[in-house]
Amino acid sequence: MGQSPYAQNHFRVESLPKMIKQGEVYLIRALGPTSLKSIYMEFQGARFPMAFGEKRGAYESLIGIDMNTRPATYPIKIVGTDKGSGVYLSTLSLKVEKADFGVQKLLLPSSMVDLDTKTLERVNQEARQLQALFQVFRDERLWRGAFIRPVEGKLSGAFGLSRIINGKHRSQHTGIDLQAEEGTPVLACNSGMIVLVDQLFFSGKSVILDHGWGLFSMYFHLSETLVKEGDRVNQGAILGRVGSTGRSTESHLHWGIRMNGARVDPLSLPGVTKTMEKKTE
Ligand SMILES: [Zn+2]
Repeated sequence: MGQSPYAQNHFRVESLPKMIKQGEVYLIRALGPTSLKSIYMEFQGARFPMAFGEKRGAYESLIGIDMNTRPATYPIKIVGTDKGSGVYLSTLSLKVEKADFGVQKLLLPSSMVDLDTKTLERVNQEARQLQALFQVFRDERLWRGAFIRPVEGKLSGAFGLSRIINGKHRSQHTGIDLQAEEGTPVLACNSGMIVLVDQLFFSGKSVILDHGWGLFSMYFHLSETLVKEGDRVNQGAILGRVGSTGRSTESHLHWGIRMNGARVDPLSLPGVTKTMEKKTE
């Protein structure tokens, strides 16, 4: 056997925010033994793989904290293995603080809110379909460097808003809404594989991209889609056009991100990935 699992502190963390808010994405950089065969970070049972960035000589990882993670201090483990059977470990602690998401009141036609049995069945089936999709973990990382916004446009619905629809608390907003003219091209926020092109009850015409390593981006309410499932696309590729299909009252893009199942604020991605290398490994 190589290293004892009890021999700790093999990694020195260079950048770890002192505190993290619910629903945000952070970049973590750690220095440690070079030429590891595999390395990942573990938080709440989810694995966040790390990559070696040549420029800084450090391992890098994005970590996404689900919007409903209970505020508390959590352990994060960094686990690396070398080409033999050596295991390298470090345990850090991370404080997750409560985010103030706010409330949004909406009035919608009751046919879009009080669903009949058949529609409810459809909605549940679609939710299960998406859930299954987000559980797929692609070992290959398809994204590189900084993420971009899929459309310019004013933020008309922030991440995490608690939604009171027709007077009743109904849901939490798991993405962001960007106001844009109908027909505006919607761009891939990073490179990836198209894993869903469909028309869903709530989301309307939708595209979902798998960027690898458990990271997914979604684009909802499109007027038209311009890609098909199985396509590999580069950052900036046109996926479709802005519209108002599904449960939507005005032309806008709903942009959502999942990271290892965590629902995170898409707007935190472009900033944290700004300093990441376009090419690594
Ligand atoms: Zn939305």
